[in-house]
Amino acid sequence: MRLVLATANPEKAVELAAILEEELDDLVELVARPQLVGAVEETGESLEENARLKAVALVAATGEAAVADDTGLEVAALGGAPGARSARFAGEAATYADNVAKLLTALEGETDRRANFRTIVVCRFPDGVEIVGEGVVEGEIVLAPRGERGFGYDPVFAPEGGSGRTFAEMSPAEKHRLSHRGLALRSFAARLLQTELAGPARSPRLPTS
Ligand code: IMP
Repeated sequence: MRLVLATANPEKAVELAAILEEELDDLVELVARPQLVGAVEETGESLEENARLKAVALVAATGEAAVADDTGLEVAALGGAPGARSARFAGEAATYADNVAKLLTALEGETDRRANFRTIVVCRFPDGVEIVGEGVVEGEIVLAPRGERGFGYDPVFAPEGGSGRTFAEMSPAEKHRLSHRGLALRSFAARLLQTELAGPARSPRLPTS
């Protein structure tokens, strides 16, 4: 089975491919997002809506099954922000560094540092069948960035079970074992395998638009 990766973000594509190849090695051939496909506007209110917008757009552009993910950082002291706005927390053209700086400023003097990353994965087939996976990792926002690996908010997020280290201080394999994206993709992979075993006739049917 061929699956087109919907993400235009190279760091995310590397993580998605590494995790999915481990889970679904023989079953899927992952295909990079075709460069000619334009950016998909993330106009949804939720992570799931945004992931679905990306997956549906890639199915429409390629005629093949596509898998998309959307991730948000939810910070307790900020009422769950930035959430679905994580990429644009510090403005439309914000860099990772801008977003991290805004987050640390917003939490200055705050003792409640609890946060979680949430990822929703939506895999969409040309006939409208859809498989969804979700992963959440709890953790906390550290006081200052640490580590050189990963991307986005990784230097300031220390997950539970990570011995106090941030994601940016972990190897890719360690991050994937604990991370929101690893959990969401493993849950998606298990459902995909179940659906494959059950056969297409027993797959859930959803509208194609
Ligand atoms: P996206 O909508 O899934 O591309 O993610 C939105 C934003 O969340 C990205 O621009 C990153 O800043 C952040 N993000 C997503 N995944 C991760 C991750 O695994 N680690 C750190 N930050 C992430």
